[in-house]
Amino acid sequence: MSEQSGYEFIRRDRCPACRSQEHQIFWGRRASQRGGLFPWRQASMDLPVFRCGKCALTYSNPLPIPLSMSQHYGMDPENYWPEQYFQLDPNFSPFSAVDFQKIERLIPGIQKPVYLDVGSGIGKSMRALAAKGWDVWGIEPGEQFHKAAITKGQIPSERLRNCSIENAEFPENFFDMISFGAVVEHLADPFACLNRSLDWLKPGGIIHIEVPSSNWLIGKAYRLVQKCMGSQYVTNLSPMHVPYHLHEFTHKSFELVPFANRFSIADYQYWPCLTYLPRGLSWLATKYMKYTDTGMQLVIYLRKT
Ligand SMILES: [Zn+2]
Repeated sequence: MSEQSGYEFIRRDRCPACRSQEHQIFWGRRASQRGGLFPWRQASMDLPVFRCGKCALTYSNPLPIPLSMSQHYGMDPENYWPEQYFQLDPNFSPFSAVDFQKIERLIPGIQKPVYLDVGSGIGKSMRALAAKGWDVWGIEPGEQFHKAAITKGQIPSERLRNCSIENAEFPENFFDMISFGAVVEHLADPFACLNRSLDWLKPGGIIHIEVPSSNWLIGKAYRLVQKCMGSQYVTNLSPMHVPYHLHEFTHKSFELVPFANRFSIADYQYWPCLTYLPRGLSWLATKYMKYTDTGMQLVIYLRKT
């Protein structure tokens, strides 16, 4: 029997991060597929996008929830990544040397960190950190990815849960570090998941999060160009097409959540990443993004109090 496809649409009456009902700004319309500079030329189901004037979270209203998760994430890993992706690379690392120095500074004196990788994929990060001597655990909701992590990624099955973060169970005060790399922006209720994962973290432990930034310079430039052409389209989010981003964040989106008394922001940085501009302009835009914190990606570390 084939699974249902389609969406349930959830209306939001306040900011999903800071819960403010005021200052919710209409930001534009997001097409349900990529449309380049002229998105109106394609048949598309558009969603209104809002931005919170208080914490700068960007979100669609309504929120589209697929009737089955496989509708968005049910693809086979072999189709998702080329075969060479599965080959064991002894030099692969989920963090750069600079990031490792930062992590060691944030959780000093721990020889064998107890680590949870949320959204493990085929287990590359788990394998690399286990090889460094870390005590590694993982959650991977995709059945095919979970299977590939165990059969091809050599991850012990008892260390990798095949469930969503919403349904995962771990003891309280168990981990020194929990990592959400390219995960939080896909979650329907990211802040409930973060609040829950704080239960599993030891006091003083850290949560590492990488998410798309609401303040990305190129996204704002695209919106301005569209406005000049008399269009309301924006490039923020991708709620109904790959890569299915449901929210964009700033560090304030974390600072102002109702459970902010449970953690402090230990560190954050905005990475410029891609510009999609010609080389000379790209160099200039990258410099500007570094200087003004308007890069594509927010990397933030929360410390449990
Ligand atoms: Zn807000």
